[in-house]
Amino acid sequence: MSLNVHYPTASLKPRREESLQNGHLWIFSGALQQSPHWIEPGGLVDVKSSTGQFVARGYYNPHTDIAIRILTRDIEQAIDENFLRQRFRNAVALRRVFDPDHTNAYRLINSEGDGLPGLIVDRFAEILVVQIHTAGMEHLRSQLIDALLEETDTRGIVFRNDSQSRRREGLELEEPRVVTGGVPMQVTVRENNVLFLVDPLQGQKTGFFLDQRDKREALRKYTKAKRVLNCFSYTGGFSVYAALTSEKTQVTSVDISSPAIETARQHFILNGLDPQHHQFIVADVFDYLEQARSSGEHYDVVALDPPAFAKTQSARTQALKAYRRLNTLGMQVLRPGGILLTCSCSGVIRMDDLLGALSQSAQRVQRTVQVLETYTHSVDHPINLAMPETAYLKAVFCRVE
Ligand code: SAH
Repeated sequence: MSLNVHYPTASLKPRREESLQNGHLWIFSGALQQSPHWIEPGGLVDVKSSTGQFVARGYYNPHTDIAIRILTRDIEQAIDENFLRQRFRNAVALRRVFDPDHTNAYRLINSEGDGLPGLIVDRFAEILVVQIHTAGMEHLRSQLIDALLEETDTRGIVFRNDSQSRRREGLELEEPRVVTGGVPMQVTVRENNVLFLVDPLQGQKTGFFLDQRDKREALRKYTKAKRVLNCFSYTGGFSVYAALTSEKTQVTSVDISSPAIETARQHFILNGLDPQHHQFIVADVFDYLEQARSSGEHYDVVALDPPAFAKTQSARTQALKAYRRLNTLGMQVLRPGGILLTCSCSGVIRMDDLLGALSQSAQRVQRTVQVLETYTHSVDHPINLAMPETAYLKAVFCRVE
């Protein structure tokens, strides 16, 4: 909209503009010839090539390896409320694929995937839960609230700025809080017509793991009248979908968090299921699986959806070991011909790594594994094509003889 907008300048080393021209949104500090002067962390900058040409506009943080995150490549695009409104409108349009009578919980803004690095917004019915991960987004906080109120028909906005990742940006961790409107303690949402309760203020991350919706749906075809073990169940997402497939299905949900397991039990009741027919266990999954193996327990279906084992490149080796151990244990409690769903949400672990860990586990226990389905993200978690490193979720369904 506004012509001739100017921001302080950051210059790139020769040829470092190419990945940006391909749509990548990060500039590492090593790519900068000259850092911008007199600018506070999170301030807006214009990025110029080594020959002085405008390349992109974004925000700068001298404290992080990623020095600049790009917001636009349009020289005439000012970064203001109008910019945010355009991006939000675009994101809202994509999510119209969801019929709200069927699914009214989804990720509305997926950071880089929606052209808004550092911003996550999850929609739970009429409530929005916002996470600001970077100093640059923090600068846009008030415009962001106004733009969300304008572009979405939300009844209330909650800020969940309690993620550890904020520290790297030099930001404080905040107590979860309602910033506008009325927000109930629990919101009832529908996901593929299955009901869940979300606690926007106290739940893990933003309250519910929306990234597993399509995998939960996919699991249904394997669970009819089966014994299902859902490891790292949290509030029982996979468990409820499985239990709904047949009265004869029996589900065991295991998680280390006792409030999560309690909510899982409530989710069974909410969906008309009798929790007495199922098991809810507060335990460390590794301990539980070892015990189950020792006592000769066998399941027809095992789901493994652990938290991220590796958050950094340096933690990769350790994480791969943990995935191997976990999948080995998972296979050992699976009857021959049973179905294993294994997931990884570690950004630094690629699909190949997960399949490799699976293959080593199979070798260790002398089982034959057929890969049936592989998944990444669903439509509400779009990935920027130029930034495959932001695709964190991998899921594999396989049959284990
Ligand atoms: N599958 C869930 C999301 C899992 S998130 C869903 O569909 O909603 C990861 C979960 O693992 C969290 O609930 C966390 O409490 C749990 N967790 C982390 N470490 C654990 C451990 N060692 N044993 C059991 N649960 C663990």
